[in-house]
Amino acid sequence: MSASVDDHRPAELVASLAAVRAHLSDAATAAGREPWSVTLVAVTKSFPAADIAILVGLGVLDIGESRDQEIRAKLAQLRASQPQDRSGNAQHAPRLHFIGQLQTNKAYSVARYADVVHTVDRPALATALAAGVRLAERDPLPVFVQVSLDGDPNRGGTAIADLPALADQVAADTALRLLGLMAVPPLGESPSVAYERLAVLAQQLRESHPGATSMSAGMSGDYEVAVSFGATHVRIGSALLGRREVTFG
Ligand SMILES: *Cc1c(COP(=O)(O)O)cnc(C)c1O
Repeated sequence: MSASVDDHRPAELVASLAAVRAHLSDAATAAGREPWSVTLVAVTKSFPAADIAILVGLGVLDIGESRDQEIRAKLAQLRASQPQDRSGNAQHAPRLHFIGQLQTNKAYSVARYADVVHTVDRPALATALAAGVRLAERDPLPVFVQVSLDGDPNRGGTAIADLPALADQVAADTALRLLGLMAVPPLGESPSVAYERLAVLAQQLRESHPGATSMSAGMSGDYEVAVSFGATHVRIGSALLGRREVTFG
């Protein structure tokens, strides 16, 4: 693969970003919400670090990635390429959102660089992330608890029955900050049915954790539906960056 910049890529991303932002803004307005109340997380997994640099240059402040190894490689590339910015200005570092299924043995690494983790789905992972935060002597790590809406553990997420205890654990740990719930809609179910269920769970969570006001839901195919059910963080990959040749999950 060539390391040279694809001349068409910036224009492509300008166009797709404008379209997604317009749809997001319309969806928020239709739901009676302010457009700024929805954070666009650009999911760049499987795309090169150069795409992240372009998006950041276009004002995208939140980047979503799902594999520790891939993220560390891209962060190193971004740091290495920064002094060559034509403007001479150091670019703002984007906020890094970890959105993939996370092995407990990778939690220390992720706790070092992640600004947000969307996929806390079991007690051992919450414990490991908190230990990583303490080791790194960093500020508390904001996290979403991921819930499985259909009980299929293959795509991550805690069972609904285990959700209250996991949320309590996260909220009680001073190294973590409970933002709210995250979910991926089950295969073969309409997103509106899934996100309505998520919204009910999010409301129940806020009864015991009033600060957990965020909700991470919505991907390229269904983000407008997710916004109508209260999503505050949409995770959008292919609608911005194009089709992934390889999916890493
Ligand atoms: C890859 C991924 C996305 C983005 O999916 P698109 O359909 O490309 O927008 C969102 N959320 C999670 C958890 C993902 O793994």
